[in-house]
Amino acid sequence: MRTFTEEQNMFRDTYRKFLEAEIVPNMEKWQEQGIVDREAFTKAGDQGFLMIWPDEQYGGMGDTDFRFEQIIIEETARVGCASWLNTLHSRLVGSYIQHFGNDEQKQRFLPGCITGEKILAIAMTEPDAGSDLAGMRTTLCEDEDHFILNGSKTYISNGINADYVVVAGKSDPENNPHAMTLCIVERGMEGFERGRNLDKMGMKAQDTAELFFSNVKIPKENILGEPGNGFFYLMQGLAEERLIAAVGSIASARRAFNLTREFVMERKVFGKPLSYMQNTQFKMAEMDAEIEILEVFIDHLVAEHNEERLTPNMAAKAKLQSTEIEWKMLDLGVQLHGGAGYMKEYPICNMFTDARINRILAGSSEIMKLIISREIFSENYSSNLD
Ligand SMILES: Cc1cc2nc3c(=O)[nH]c(=O)nc-3n(C[C@H](O)[C@H](O)[C@H](O)COP(=O)(O)OP(=O)(O)OC[C@H]3O[C@@H](n4cnc5c(N)ncnc54)[C@H](O)[C@@H]3O)c2cc1C
Repeated sequence: MRTFTEEQNMFRDTYRKFLEAEIVPNMEKWQEQGIVDREAFTKAGDQGFLMIWPDEQYGGMGDTDFRFEQIIIEETARVGCASWLNTLHSRLVGSYIQHFGNDEQKQRFLPGCITGEKILAIAMTEPDAGSDLAGMRTTLCEDEDHFILNGSKTYISNGINADYVVVAGKSDPENNPHAMTLCIVERGMEGFERGRNLDKMGMKAQDTAELFFSNVKIPKENILGEPGNGFFYLMQGLAEERLIAAVGSIASARRAFNLTREFVMERKVFGKPLSYMQNTQFKMAEMDAEIEILEVFIDHLVAEHNEERLTPNMAAKAKLQSTEIEWKMLDLGVQLHGGAGYMKEYPICNMFTDARINRILAGSSEIMKLIISREIFSENYSSNLD
């Protein structure tokens, strides 16, 4: 059962209007240029749609209820603007500053991010370390009164637009390969360079870039949390990141379902609507059932998350299932559209290429299965029938 308050329903309406006025009309232009204009962030910030959770002293609304973020993600999917990554900035990266930053860092970094004048990114992945983060080669080692950052990162979302990048590096590579530290790299720091805006299959309005760090001097004031605990912090952040991915993918699956439903009711084949064919009816019935069951599970996880009971295992199950079902729905959607499904003028076409990444990023489907299977075969395993 969905539990949105009146305030949240009003928030949904105003965010929907914002998207329709400021984001939807620009999407085609941003897709062509491969990057969202920075004004998208300041306009969202002006209306209070970025980072609603920080305390009022930093300029936020102090409302940590994840339902607000769920609304933002669902509405963005509803209008087909998946590559406007409000949530990456607002919740996914912003949370690292909130959870692991000290008061001085929150004062310094959060206000600009809330107004949208500063844009955030997070850089974990490297050319030789994606799923296996422990294999990263970037180093962030203490040196007198500062740290030195060396290495490179790739596939970084908001990589070109970002003013602050949360970067992970190994802090004691010789003696403790698992010791990782997180820092905030700021635009303009000496030795920080950006590479290409990468040319992708989908998510065309998203700037995804390589980042290079050569002897970047990081003041201690830019280190997040305790040096050496970075891996643990990343693992903590990933459970929420996977819930975010699950909310987005199931909303996108539902949108694809709705678009396909409308299409098959209009399209005539052999003298009657495509929706009269039993193949169409059975396949759509299967998808409606699969999507709805997952919508309920994900709503349940949002409530669990609000109570701080979201576990990595639950988040992995939601991410695995929602991205796989989204993909199944989009493949069926394109199939039932016929040739039209391959044409860009039909939204299902764009959705298909945008969604392909969802089974890979934020932990691939295979990695989600690893996480789930670890618990199945652990001593602590218990099922709902025990
Ligand atoms: C558009 C886009 C945006 C991104 N944004 C960001 C970002 O903002 N920040 C960031 O840090 N990263 C980002 N990434 C990187 C993304 O998180 C990685 O691509 C992802 O984690 C997979 O890593 P990889 O590409 O190195 O693939 P690999 O890890 O090399 O995986 C290749 C294949 O091997 C499989 N595999 C790996 N390990 C196992 C295993 N143990 N058992 C079975 N199969 C396995 C994988 O599932 C996959 O199918 C982004 C990527 C893309 C494409």
